[in-house]
Amino acid sequence: MSQESQHAVQFDDLYRDLILDHYRRPRHKGALQDATIAAEGMNPSCGDEIRVEIQVQDGRLADIAFSGMGCSISQASASMMTDEALNGEPGGKPLSTIDELSGHVQEMLTHEDFDIDAVDVGDLEALSGVAKFPVRIKCALLAWKVLDMALAEVRGEKADADSDIPIRIASTEN
Ligand code: ZN
Repeated sequence: MSQESQHAVQFDDLYRDLILDHYRRPRHKGALQDATIAAEGMNPSCGDEIRVEIQVQDGRLADIAFSGMGCSISQASASMMTDEALNGEPGGKPLSTIDELSGHVQEMLTHEDFDIDAVDVGDLEALSGVAKFPVRIKCALLAWKVLDMALAEVRGEKADADSDIPIRIASTEN
């Protein structure tokens, strides 16, 4: 766990417990039976890897799963992402809502002065402190960048390329 001590991020206890809980007991980790799109990416600066599979039905996110390895922040962010993406509406949230969530979380992760009370990002609020630690931002962003690329692929678009976080569309064969 040298990465953890090297770039220690001080979180409030409540937030730290939540992050560690998602890290130790990740939600929706694994593969989907019937994925529409899979994408995967890595954060070379920390060695984090994330693969995201989504199942899309009628413009809604019917299911999502992730797999990967890396630091607690990268894996907790992915776990919280799947939880929040599936939280609520029967049949799944509209992809536009997922896009909005991704935008809010990425704003939060990259802006220290982000107004967390203005949005509902669920447990992901626990990662708001990451914005103060530039070296860890990419750890938390990784899962969302991978999700963005998967959503762009569904729309037949190309996601914005970020050379710092290489991501690609992957085979859905497991
Ligand atoms: Zn990391």
